[in-house]
Amino acid sequence: MSGRVPVATTWLQSCSGCHIALLDLHEELLDLLGSIDIRYSPIVDVKEVPETDLGIVEGSVGNRDNTEMLLKFRERSKTLIAFGTCACFGGIPGLRNLFTREELLRRGYVETGEHCGWNSAGGPRTSGARAIRQASQPTCAG
Ligand code: SF4
Repeated sequence: MSGRVPVATTWLQSCSGCHIALLDLHEELLDLLGSIDIRYSPIVDVKEVPETDLGIVEGSVGNRDNTEMLLKFRERSKTLIAFGTCACFGGIPGLRNLFTREELLRRGYVETGEHCGWNSAGGPRTSGARAIRQASQPTCAG
């Protein structure tokens, strides 16, 4: 046994900034790594959440996968830390709770696409908006 504390970390709906903030410990990170054993994390290629002494969760719960991951962490961590504003209070992802699902879908896939022009895959983002508009118009018989 190494004597190091077994730790698991994960991010749910978040920007990953909380994990980046850990890296901002700079050389003090080396001292920390001498005390902990990272058994599961976005930076470790492990598929199953192991049992650990300490679980650290970044981000808020926004879908079923997030819920399942959070419950696994709760079940398998002796101590669980909600790390950052998103995990503790909802943060930026939690702002979606101020709107209906329809408002969010329209904003994300129709209105934004019309202004942006391109999606993250490099394709024309307006195609979804155009398809929705065309679907609501009468079909051309000619
Ligand atoms: S609290 Fe949320 S928005 Fe802030 S750095 Fe962490 S994940 Fe990103």
